[in-house]
Formats: sequence, structure tokens, C-alpha cells
Amino acid sequence: MNKEQLLDKVLSSDELPTLPTVASELITLTSREDATLSDIAKLVSQDISLSAKILKVSNSAFYSFPQQIGSIKQAVSLLGMNAVRSLVLSFSFLSIKGSKAPSRFQFAHFWQKSLAQAVASKLILERVEGADTEEIFISGLLQNLGELILAKTFPEKYDNVLQSIEDDQFDTMGAEDAAFGADHTFVGTEVAKNWGFPEVLLLPILHHHDPTSYKGNDKKIHSIVCAVYLSDLLINILFSKKPEDYHKQFRKEARQLLGLTNEEIEVILEQVHIRIKEAGKYFNLKIKSDKSVQEILQEANIRLSLLNLDYDQMNKQLIQAKIHLENITRELEEKNTILDNLANIDGLTEIYNHRYFQNVLDQEISRANRHETTLSLLLIDIDHFKNFNDAYGHQTGDFILKEFSAIIKDNIREYDTVARYGGEEFVVILPETTEGEALTVAEKLRAAIDDTTFSDGRKKYHVTASFGEISAQPVTEDNFSKSSFIARADKALYAAKESGRNKVVAYTEKKKWFSF
Ligand code: GH3
Ligand code: MG
Ligand code: MG
Repeated sequence: MNKEQLLDKVLSSDELPTLPTVASELITLTSREDATLSDIAKLVSQDISLSAKILKVSNSAFYSFPQQIGSIKQAVSLLGMNAVRSLVLSFSFLSIKGSKAPSRFQFAHFWQKSLAQAVASKLILERVEGADTEEIFISGLLQNLGELILAKTFPEKYDNVLQSIEDDQFDTMGAEDAAFGADHTFVGTEVAKNWGFPEVLLLPILHHHDPTSYKGNDKKIHSIVCAVYLSDLLINILFSKKPEDYHKQFRKEARQLLGLTNEEIEVILEQVHIRIKEAGKYFNLKIKSDKSVQEILQEANIRLSLLNLDYDQMNKQLIQAKIHLENITRELEEKNTILDNLANIDGLTEIYNHRYFQNVLDQEISRANRHETTLSLLLIDIDHFKNFNDAYGHQTGDFILKEFSAIIKDNIREYDTVARYGGEEFVVILPETTEGEALTVAEKLRAAIDDTTFSDGRKKYHVTASFGEISAQPVTEDNFSKSSFIARADKALYAAKESGRNKVVAYTEKKKWFSF
């Protein structure tokens, strides 16, 4: 079959898609010199559902017009005649359905890829200075029209063509040439010519596989042809099995053919998957385009590095990666613990702060409730500390507070908690401790302080402290509350101060103060 015979067959086939009336009349109308904007608007407005779709896209982020477009007439005058023609044709083509017969040629897939190519073509051309992007969308969309027509008119034969491409015997063009004596660029161009398409729409279909084959001088057409060619490479980064190859080729040829800079190429690569997803919404096609180019290349890179390893090596690498991950996780946990601790530690004395004390006390109260054990609390206040500061200075006072805290800490059990309550007041939580035991601890602490001679290398100092003690078994106490528990310890502490300081006083129910 030669090219003419092929074309005769295609054009006379019952399977050849027919354009909706509005679309074909629009092509005729826009090819006339004297066509006015209102002629076009009138024609498009005849098809109500088409008009609604066009208005929806016109008002979408796809065009991002600052003002609301309310009528087709407005759309034609704001977007331009060719943009509206492009939209009418896009909607018309995207509604062409295939037969249900099982075949390697998937209509849904074809239109998804074509729509992605249309978006990509527009995205690329937008980066070219002075380019007119009104028509690029339809050129990008219809670049592979010939494939659709061959698949529709020769379903079985085209199935074989796709099979030989899958088997890597041929590339698309080679396989079509071998089967039909012509490829889809020729068929697509001729059919579109038959439909009355203007040259500006025909040339990208004809030259989209090899932009250098366009020998004309029209710069605008040259840019469109190149952008459509590049859109196929760009889309193959997202949807083919060899994303890196297409990525490399896309970058190189985008620079060579359109003079795009690396920054411009970067913008395209970053945006393409988002723009495709958006367009899918406007044109009612579900397109899987969740991953960015960067993610796809990263995945491919990992796959490639694993592919080159034998089983043992791969195993080793995976183990190493796992160890590395575990190390990072552990480091992170340690850092988090340090951070958590920092939030709970008093900056001066390096023991726990008031906030932490309150949390621990909550926990210990509920534990004492669960186990029905006695919980004790000591409130400690340094005696006449104001006078100490006055005599030796605030800095020496700070030094004492630090040393004082360390002494308390060294003299309690591991599961007791000491915290700075505020200023020169401290608190010790003693879980599972009876009053008798708590008083012993308090006395031991009091004596330890009293026996200590503090020295900062310049002078020696002495301080004493007063202790208030409270013990309770919360579960047996009516109306037990944390705040009254602390308040009672505070009352005992006050009594210790009243009775001469450097004392331990326990709170008793009968308010008879017991002191050591
Ligand atoms: P009392 O025996 O009745 O407890 O007498 P006091 O002087 O210790 O009690 P008061 O509450 O009147 O004064 C507490 C003093 O503790 C006043 C303040 O200067 C000192 N103080 C509180 N926090 C700090 C601190 O962080 N550093 C220093 N150096 N002194 C502090
Ligand atoms: Mg005080
Ligand atoms: Mg004091």
C-alpha cells in the first residue's frame, strides 16, 4: 500500500472520526479573512454545553485572568480567537471515544497522554520570549492524531505495530512505516488538512518527531514545532520507563532548540506535574500525575543503583542502609530526650524546675492511689537568704543555690525527685514513703546542709534551711487535692520558720506541730 492508497482508505473509512458541527464550522470561519469576533462568539454560543465548558476553563487558573469572564463573546475578545478555537477543538477531540474491543491501543490512555503533552507544550512555549501561546495547546494535543486514526481505521494491524514496538523491534515511526508505508505524522497531517485545519495547526503535527525537518522561516511556527517536540520528551520523563534518558535529552534539546536557560528549564520541570493534574480537572480526564519530575528521577536512580548489584551486594547495601537509618533514629531520639530534659531543667541549679515537679507530683499521686501507698513531700526554704545575698552578693547567693541543690540531690534515693520550687525554695517528692521515713530523710538533709561549709575558693560560708513535711495516702483521704497537699507542706514549713528555723516540721491533722 502506498501513501495515496493508505490515505484513500483512511479518508473513506467509516471509522474516521467526524468533527462536531461547531468545531468544523469554526475552522472554516476562522480561516476567513473577514471573520469577526462576534461571528465566532455567535457560532460557539450555539452549543450550550460546549460554551459552558469553555467558560469554566477560561475562568480557571489555567488562564488566570484577573477578571471574571461571563460570556463567550468576552472569552473570544479576552483570550483571543485562536485560543477559543483551540479550546473548542480540544473539547471536541477529547470527547472522541474508542471501541470497546480489547486492543493494545488504549483510547483513554491516549487522550491522557495527549492532554499531558498539550499542557507541557504550553508550559514550554510560555518560557520562550515573545511566543504566542494561544494555539500551542491544540497543537500539543493533536500531535499524535495520526496514531488515533490508524488505530481506529486499522485496529488489528495497529495492534501488531504496538506489539512490535513493545518487543523493541522498532520505534513508533519505524513500525508504522513498515506496516503502512507511512507514519502517523503523515496520516495525522493529511486528515487534519482534509478537515480544513490551517497550516499553523498542521505543521506541528507533521514535524513533531523531527523539528529540523521544518524548513520554513516562520519563527512562530518553528517555536511551536519545537515546543511540541519537546513536550513528548518532557511527558516521557513522567510516564515512560526510562525517565533519566528523556530528562537528559529534554534539557539538552530545550537549550539547543529554543535557547532556554537552565533556570527556565528548572521551572518547567518543577511545574509540569501540577499543571497536568489541574488540566485533568478542567477537561474531566483523570490523569495520574502525583509525582514530580524530581521524585521520579530519584526513584529511578535508586532502582538503577539496585539493578547493578548482585543479590549479595544488594543485601549488604540494604543492611547498611538499615543500620544507617537506625543510627539516625537513635541520634534523633537522644537529641529529643536532651531537648525534653532541657525544658524540664532549671537553668541555675541544674535540677528539675517547677513545671516538671508539678507533672511528677501528678504521676506520683495517681501511682500512690493505684498501689494504695503513702506519698510524702518536703518543702525546703533556705533561712535568711535575703540577708545572705545582702552580705555576700547575689553571685555568691547563686553559687550557694547550686551547691545546695547538689547536696539535696546526693542525699536522696534515685526514685525521689528534687526540684527548684522557686527562688530559694526546693521541693522533694518521696514516693512510697511513710511519714516516719520522710522525717528521717528531712532530718538527714537538714543536718547535711547544717554540716556543710560552702567554699568558693575565696571565702567559706554557712547556711541552714527549714523543712516542712507532709505525708498522705491519697486514696484514703477525703477531698484529697494536689494543691492542698502542697499548701499543707507549706504550712509546716512556715511553722518550722516560726519555731526558730533550721528545723523539720511535719504537718499533722490535729494541727499540732511535730518537730525534731
Ligand atoms: P526566710 O528565712 O524567712 O526564708 O528568709 P529569706 O530571706 O530567705 O526569705 P525571703 O523570702 O524574704 O527572701 C528570699 C531571698 O532569696 C530573696 C532573694 O534575693 C533570694 N533569692 C531568691 N532567688 C534567688 C536566686 O536565684 N539567686 C540568689 N542569689 N538569690 C535568690
Ligand atoms: Mg522564701
Ligand atoms: Mg528563705
